Amino acid sequence: MSKNTKNEEKHSIEVAHDDKVFASCTFETLGLHTRLCNILEEKLGFKVPTHIQAQAVPVILSGKHVLVNAATGTGKTLVYLAPVVHHLLLQNDKQRINRADGTYALVLVPTHELCMQVYETLDKMLHRLHWLVPGYIMGGESRAKEKARLRKGVSILVSTPGRLLDHLKNTSSFVYTNLRWLIFDEADRILELGYGKEIEEILTVLGSRQDKSTVQRQNLLLSATLNDKVNHLANISLENPVTIGLDDKKI
Ligand code: ADP
Ligand code: MG
Repeated sequence: MSKNTKNEEKHSIEVAHDDKVFASCTFETLGLHTRLCNILEEKLGFKVPTHIQAQAVPVILSGKHVLVNAATGTGKTLVYLAPVVHHLLLQNDKQRINRADGTYALVLVPTHELCMQVYETLDKMLHRLHWLVPGYIMGGESRAKEKARLRKGVSILVSTPGRLLDHLKNTSSFVYTNLRWLIFDEADRILELGYGKEIEEILTVLGSRQDKSTVQRQNLLLSATLNDKVNHLANISLENPVTIGLDDKKI
């Protein structure tokens, strides 16, 4: 087990990692929807979960707010995309999901480059699931084009903070009343790049919406490093979170 840091004490539970536990681990044994497991293998070529995926996916599936602290390259993208797609597959099994339902999950990323990387992974995952629409918003495009995309409906949206805030405030056709997941990927870099104020505003706008909504929201924060700024963001955005960490780069 890794040693308890100050942050881990503050954020209650820490999940231990033990190589033996993961020896026979598959995406199925993590509890993921069979259809998603097939997609991961066939479309992404992923046969078994990485360490951080094996630890974090079951906790995230349970609905808890989670802070994931693991180095770059450990597989954090799937840590949050897999549970989101899993739950939307289950929901669609009961009641058809339509792009007009608006945005179910919002992934905030620091840069255009990461925005495209996450979007490309998501796009591959949703290839055969036509009723789930991936989308991105990251500036560099005309607002009209972005607005048109949001108007048609984006089920899982990847965005940089500045542009997202702009659309939250000014694009009335952007439907996010069904928002169930708010995810901060590379939270340390988001804050290093000076987006702290935008993030706080986004939380305020989405928080005021949540008061009127019956939808239960799960917030997730992923970061390669922990520092005061990341801990502050965790404190203001996560409720009774579980912290899951790898102290070294295990894949
Ligand atoms: P991080 O966000 O922690 O930096 P990524 O999610 O970008 O990590 O994943 C790093 C690399 O590992 C990517 O090339 C990704 O395609 C690959 N990868 C992720 N999960 C798996 C897996 N379960 N099996 C094989 N490769 C994986
Ligand atoms: Mg990443």
